[in-house]
Amino acid sequence: MIDEVMENLYRIEVPLPNSPLKELNSYIIKGNDRNLIIDTGFNRSVCYDAMHKGLADLNVDLSKTDFMITHMHADHTGLLERLATKTSTVYFSRIDSRVFDKDNSWQPMIDYALINGFPADELMNALHSHPGFKYSPAKIPEFNLIDNGSIIEIGGYRLQCLLTPGHTQGHICLFEEKKRILFSGDHILYNITPHIESWSYLVNALGDYLKSLDMVYNLPVDIVLPGHRNFFKDLKGRIDELKAHHQQRADEVIDVVGSEIKNAYEIAAGMTWDIDCETWEEFPIAQKWFATGEAIAHLRYLESEGRIKRDAQGKIVTFQAAAN
Ligand SMILES: [Zn+2]
Repeated sequence: MIDEVMENLYRIEVPLPNSPLKELNSYIIKGNDRNLIIDTGFNRSVCYDAMHKGLADLNVDLSKTDFMITHMHADHTGLLERLATKTSTVYFSRIDSRVFDKDNSWQPMIDYALINGFPADELMNALHSHPGFKYSPAKIPEFNLIDNGSIIEIGGYRLQCLLTPGHTQGHICLFEEKKRILFSGDHILYNITPHIESWSYLVNALGDYLKSLDMVYNLPVDIVLPGHRNFFKDLKGRIDELKAHHQQRADEVIDVVGSEIKNAYEIAAGMTWDIDCETWEEFPIAQKWFATGEAIAHLRYLESEGRIKRDAQGKIVTFQAAAN
């Protein structure tokens, strides 16, 4: 399905079966000499078919097309390898590009899950159900690395890159000042709450995320074009909701910990999740993984706020409420 959003700007809805996100928004800017595709879909045939059909309907010549990827997740990067041609420039966040470094592997994440109480016998199963593991591009084209403030000009659009860490450390939004548009990637979604996870205590993902929300709060925009689901107009209103949501979640984490000492996996199991399962045991393994990552992000944030104490002395990291 294709929508014309504005002059020379289109959206292709790329289905993401079995994902609560439902679909990815791929945005296409058509220019006289070059086109730009913003985000691509998973590396799987159902996504490729939708992109292939959409691009054909729009008469997009891939040999005259460049790419901009808002962040490193597989639903955004997945089809890069199959769609990019020899002449394509691929704009990609310098910070997020590090996950594709040769020496990078999933092992540190696995080790980290283990010390946070994730059951050892379920770890490999969790990894193999992870969409990032299953649907990433097999090979990565050469990137044109972008930073905060980089400018991409194409088809009468002047896109200013805004580094907005939180959802990923190198997440980038695009701001079109004259046309008053924000391409928000997965930084701000309208129908669902962006997933904030942390798999390292060096990164305060939720703290970064809240700061990045403030960074874009006052942007003069008439329309926000997110990475998933509906477009929306009220940027400030949506940011207020997201901030309130995370404060509530942080308070919930404090309640779940109570006066006990618990690990992150146990805390995740005690939180409420918007998922069709009666008990934590019934959660699909990938959802347990995401929930644990999200619990850690909130715990790390609460620790930075002085509300939670972390104890990393033993084999498993534990948390308790900070004495006040
Ligand atoms: Zn994402």
